[in-house]
Amino acid sequence: NNEEAAAKAAAVNADSGTPTIFDKIIAKEISSTIVYEDEKVLAFRDINPQAPVHVLIIPKLRDGLTMLGKVSVYHCYFSRLKNSPIAEARHGEILSHLLYTAKIVAEKEGILDGFRVVINNGPDACQSVYHLHLHVLGGRQMKWPPG
Ligand code: IMP
Repeated sequence: NNEEAAAKAAAVNADSGTPTIFDKIIAKEISSTIVYEDEKVLAFRDINPQAPVHVLIIPKLRDGLTMLGKVSVYHCYFSRLKNSPIAEARHGEILSHLLYTAKIVAEKEGILDGFRVVINNGPDACQSVYHLHLHVLGGRQMKWPPG
């Protein structure tokens, strides 16, 4: 069906290193509302916000970080990430920098009373852009469980 075809296409894209729309945002070829930027990361407003504050934080270098774990198309699509690594040791520094940036963004946006950090990883989690990104959501009461 269409949904499976789209998930498969996304998985192929994830593994191929194909540039995504986020590369164009990093290159400033398409505009975004930037909330924070340094040499390693870019934080900008989500085009389809799911909360009063919805900011995406992305690493500027992709370096295998299309998903948390670089896995093969077969692995990703057919085995649904089974046995896949959750990132590699060399990603530790950028992952901690992304999380630290979430705190900076939350401070700037005035949502330190409560905010959510989300990573959608792979087809079962509805990842739609295969360039690692943190969602920072806040400004309203969050519910649990998420949909
Ligand atoms: P994912 O579903 O976790 O992969 O999140 C991708 C997010 O990127 C979605 O929340 C989209 O709304 C967002 N998005 C896609 N294109 C753009 C854009 O051009 N600017 C800002 N956000 C975008």
